[in-house]
Amino acid sequence: MYEDCVKTNSDREIYQPGSPRLGKYANGRLQTFEVGSLLLKAAIERDMVGSLEEKCHYYQGCISSNKELIRMGQGISYQDKNGQMCVGLFDGAVKMSNVSRDNKTMVQVICFRISTDDNGDIQYGCFQCPVLVKTTYKEIIPSSSVKQRVHLVHDCLSRECGFEESNHDVVEEREVIQHYSLTTTHNLTNNRYLFNRFFISCNNVF
Ligand SMILES: [Zn+2]
Repeated sequence: MYEDCVKTNSDREIYQPGSPRLGKYANGRLQTFEVGSLLLKAAIERDMVGSLEEKCHYYQGCISSNKELIRMGQGISYQDKNGQMCVGLFDGAVKMSNVSRDNKTMVQVICFRISTDDNGDIQYGCFQCPVLVKTTYKEIIPSSSVKQRVHLVHDCLSRECGFEESNHDVVEEREVIQHYSLTTTHNLTNNRYLFNRFFISCNNVF
């Protein structure tokens, strides 16, 4: 059941923008957690005005305004509290058990900031893709603020990323042969990423 794109005409609630998806189940039952055990404490205190002990369900996906399924670690564009368009990585969603909350489904985001030069102009990398810097800052936003999926590519050229060679034994035609492969290894101390302007479902954010 692999569904990378849930664009559908279905009116079911789970396919509507802002709906949480891919819940955590145990023995067929949706599990209940304390918010404080799932999301960053500093971000809860700043963005949620709630108790860390409040109960919620946990989800590893949500539906964007564009009706795409967003999964853990995928790039998104979203609107922050000031109405500013931002880019980040989806880092989990919670649905509060207390239904009286206004925005009861919240999404945690790992924030990226746009890299600018001394004049405040956006810096561009290969193919005129804007450069973004991955931060350690996390914020929590209503799931309805998740606009669309975006594609972020590690800016490998700016530092040493490379390939690792490996040999695996594989069986082919009943014979064991050596299979040579190259795997990309990123130097993640370099936190610069390129915003892929050519990603198919992406309206330009910048
Ligand atoms: Zn790289």
